[in-house]
Amino acid sequence: MKLAAAALALLTGLLTASAQNAPGKLERTRLFGNDYIRLTDWAAAYHFQMFWTRRNEEVQLASSWSKLDFTLDSHKAGINGVTVYLSAPVAVRNGAVFISLLDLQTTVQPVLFPPKNKVSAPILSVCLDPGHGGRDPGNKESRRQEKEYTLLLAREVRDWLSGAGLKVTLTRNGDNFVPLPHRPEIAKQRDADLFVSLHFNAAIAEKDQIKGVEVYCLTPAGASSTNARGDWPDSDAKRLVER
Ligand SMILES: [Zn+2]
Repeated sequence: MKLAAAALALLTGLLTASAQNAPGKLERTRLFGNDYIRLTDWAAAYHFQMFWTRRNEEVQLASSWSKLDFTLDSHKAGINGVTVYLSAPVAVRNGAVFISLLDLQTTVQPVLFPPKNKVSAPILSVCLDPGHGGRDPGNKESRRQEKEYTLLLAREVRDWLSGAGLKVTLTRNGDNFVPLPHRPEIAKQRDADLFVSLHFNAAIAEKDQIKGVEVYCLTPAGASSTNARGDWPDSDAKRLVER
């Protein structure tokens, strides 16, 4: 199962480390209306070595257990080989590289230093949302329609999660049309702790060039969405991981 494989791959190789040097204590610089931290300061606080992989273009932070890749003037970054899209671009000022505090706090550090035994609100119930349905077929490849596969996947994931003791509900369990705004509403009504919408995305690419899983998550407050197509005008979905 691709989804589970991606989640496991992301966690593999991530060792918990002491995060007592909260990045908020490091010196801040205001760029593009956001608080930024000098990457060398963060690297020193968290015991990473920093070096250029492409002079003035790409920089890498490495420790004995982790590797971070950043591209200047870009949202695209890498955490242990997994592509991650940051909320704000990495920037350079007077030869120094800066990363937004928000990205350190909401993306980089939660992945590198997941909280241990400190989950304040454990996830007990999950609402799975099979994308599309009814008059909305989703992506089409010849006669195959995305809506059929999202439902099959949702049922399979439901069985897995139920088997693990979670309460699971679906936003649809047949070929019916559910408007987008209704879907998170259903999750709310059923008191779900987590809402997961399942899709099979398509891209124009050479065969075998694109593979793996994309995960979008809610953008942190104050950050703009990376949903470039803009077909969900009210969505704050942010692309987080791709591999
Ligand atoms: Zn879709």
